[in-house]
Amino acid sequence: MPFTCIRCGKCCTETEMLLLEEDIARLESLGHNRSEFSLIRRDGLVQLKNVNGHCYFFDPATRRCKVYEWRPLGCRFYPIIYSITEDKCVPDKDCPMSHTVSPEEIKRACPHLRKLVKQLIAEAHIRKLLFSGDYYEHDKKDYKVCKKTRRGHNRHSGR
Ligand code: SF4
Repeated sequence: MPFTCIRCGKCCTETEMLLLEEDIARLESLGHNRSEFSLIRRDGLVQLKNVNGHCYFFDPATRRCKVYEWRPLGCRFYPIIYSITEDKCVPDKDCPMSHTVSPEEIKRACPHLRKLVKQLIAEAHIRKLLFSGDYYEHDKKDYKVCKKTRRGHNRHSGR
């Protein structure tokens, strides 16, 4: 049986989901401005903004994503994440339904996740070359898609 999401909204709470330029362009095509829904971190990565403790696009009334069809690539693979320290794809234990992710689903998603992480890092390097430190609104050392966990691992996350 494939992964079953119970729409608890946990992954949309205090999100650190990283965004590709193509994610930003897709969301801007809906009429949003990047400054509304994203911020650039000091490490050059761009992540979704939180409003009242949840993702800018999360609707607490319905507990649904307001841009589900246009959501970032990282959100599409969640709860499968890429662990930089382990150099492998794993189900994110923060998701209460992570135990329903099958090995086949991980195998299918992993090449895409690896590519996504590479692209995120490449785009971050370009931003760091283009902008001065004053531009950044957020200061974190770890990657959003590769967030530091309570267990001390760096990993890629998103729904
Ligand atoms: S992906 Fe997991 S954490 Fe996110 S809403 Fe579904 S069950 Fe909850």
